[in-house]
Amino acid sequence: MKKEIKAIYNEDMEGFLEKTGELYEIKKGNRFCKICGGAIMLNNIQLIVPYKNQSFEYICDSISCVEQYNGN
Ligand SMILES: [Zn+2]
Repeated sequence: MKKEIKAIYNEDMEGFLEKTGELYEIKKGNRFCKICGGAIMLNNIQLIVPYKNQSFEYICDSISCVEQYNGN
């Protein structure tokens, strides 16, 4: 059973992150872009990818990160 959310848009994002407890981690600076390793903040999240064990991967809004992620 593989569940993948391709994109969560801004209006839903904060509520979603709060529910999952990720909002707190992002605000503390504990989440990083999977591609470039840059810090993820509320204003630069492009994609959230649910991963195993209730963790998430993030892609920042840098064009090159988004292109690399989509190219995989
Ligand atoms: Zn990035």
